[in-house]
Amino acid sequence: MSYPRRTHSAGDLRLEHLGQTVTLNGWVHRIRDLGGVWFADIRDRGGMVQVSADPEKWPQLDLRHEACVAITGVVRARDEKNRNPKIPTGDVEIELTAYDVLGPAGTLPFPVSDEAQMERVNEELRVKYRYLDLRRPSMYRRLAIRASAIRRMRQFLDARGFLEIETPIITKSTPEGARDYLVPYRLEPGQFYALPQSPQQYKQLLMVAGVERYYQIAKCFRDESQRADRQPEFTQLDLEMSFIEQEDIVNLIEALTREVINGLIEEFDLDKEPVAEFVRLTYDEAMEKYGSDKPDLRFDLPLLTVSDLVKDSEFAVFKNAVADGGAVRCFRYPGGAKLSRKEVTALEDHVKEFGAKGLAWFALDSAASEASRELPGGLHVRGGIGKFLGDEEVLALVQATGAEAGDLLTFIADDYRASCEPLNRLRLMVAEQLGLRDKRKLAFGWVLDFPLVEWNADEQRWDPSHHPFTSPKAADMEFLESDPARVRADCYDVVVNGTEWASGSIRINKPDIQSRIFSLIGVDEETQRSRFGHMLDAFSMGAPPHGGIAPGIDRMVMFLTDDENIREVIAFPKLGQGYDPMMDAPSPIDATQWADLGLTPPKRPE
Ligand code: ASP
Repeated sequence: MSYPRRTHSAGDLRLEHLGQTVTLNGWVHRIRDLGGVWFADIRDRGGMVQVSADPEKWPQLDLRHEACVAITGVVRARDEKNRNPKIPTGDVEIELTAYDVLGPAGTLPFPVSDEAQMERVNEELRVKYRYLDLRRPSMYRRLAIRASAIRRMRQFLDARGFLEIETPIITKSTPEGARDYLVPYRLEPGQFYALPQSPQQYKQLLMVAGVERYYQIAKCFRDESQRADRQPEFTQLDLEMSFIEQEDIVNLIEALTREVINGLIEEFDLDKEPVAEFVRLTYDEAMEKYGSDKPDLRFDLPLLTVSDLVKDSEFAVFKNAVADGGAVRCFRYPGGAKLSRKEVTALEDHVKEFGAKGLAWFALDSAASEASRELPGGLHVRGGIGKFLGDEEVLALVQATGAEAGDLLTFIADDYRASCEPLNRLRLMVAEQLGLRDKRKLAFGWVLDFPLVEWNADEQRWDPSHHPFTSPKAADMEFLESDPARVRADCYDVVVNGTEWASGSIRINKPDIQSRIFSLIGVDEETQRSRFGHMLDAFSMGAPPHGGIAPGIDRMVMFLTDDENIREVIAFPKLGQGYDPMMDAPSPIDATQWADLGLTPPKRPE
């Protein structure tokens, strides 16, 4: 098909083009028919420009929203009053002289050009017509940020001697704690491939192969319940290095993050502060200070365990919790004394939602009131459990937490582990109320020294905290069988603003240790051979010390674009539990395919 080819991109036109005849190829964005004059914005991937037509000259004008067009016209200056300083082409418009409809558009499912209305369009409809949804400049921008992020990562790693290597998609199960997506093997019914939950085993085998520095922009597939930050398939920057220690990965990732993110902030004029120092915390410190292994580090508001101060308390809940081997932990709400009863109850309801049995509290005032009691030193304690606590006890809590008049001290008395999540949620809720979750800040931190395994009470066995290839700390090896809970791993996560962004570890490279870990997590020797024989074999053929990490690419775009939903940063996402309404996938297969695979379709209820 021959058609008038573009002379300019719509976004390029300026006053310097006045009087020129230009041709644009793009889409009809927004039409305004003012009777005496007809306007439309023409949009292409480079921007937008206004086109005007005199209805007397164009009585039969047939340009519809979102039609794909070639437009020819003369560049004119807009009248002073019609100039639009908000767009780069706002000083000019194109006076229409000719047009061709290259791709007509009929009725549209939603108004692509109206961002405000698009906010309210049902997501399923947007995903069903994703090719239309992606025409919005805001969606294109997300794709562009993502592409630039990947380009920058490649540049950074290529410059440091990393090799980009693709690993198989149809392969064998590699455990990362989720269910596998399985693919039946036609030639031998009953045999299946699994889609990789990550390239973990392949990247380690590449280290055994002597590659030393590998990376991949890797698709990972995990069949697990979906959340706002999860998709059945997602993308990681997967990397692995040989002859390194934890510190090398830490330094590499900090430098990469700085280069990539600061570059993106500049290129896309993102409203973010440049990457600051990474905080470092051990897993135990993170749980103690923040109640979470993915703390939001944009603000401090630390928790404090106060069991020792209240173990002999008159307040039985505290005393009993400590006596039963639990803990009493305190969270100070700065300025929280002014909260109404209803507001305090809302905090309590919130922690209960995350498993707390209750929230004890008292307020500190500077002045006396009917319900308060004066403490030595002039502070006044009011409300909640204040009346059950002795003066000395309150003062000890005040001193330990650094509380002041005007603050609210809140407490959870429970099993230590059980108190973590509700306290984490309380801390986040209060930070939200105090306006401390500043969108402009990206607070990166390392969480180090995770426990190697965690107890799975449902299945009555030890599960790896990360994956079974993570190396135990040498100093803790002696407890591997006798006290597994005590064994820490050479394992590190990067967190940012309260989410996990990357996870990695130094790996096991000796077959006997690998085999002990498998045994610990309940993989018997026969299964070790059948599922992981290749790893055990490889580790007995000169495997170098190695380690790696995998930052999430979707999540990175999310925190740069302030999207709370991972689907916004993926070109073609799945909805709900894995449905693609555009392709209508998953979908039934036909009888021949069932037969080919040697499988029988499930019986459907009549
Ligand atoms: N394979 C790990 C993951 O997907 C990352 C790593 O350990 O490098 O979380």
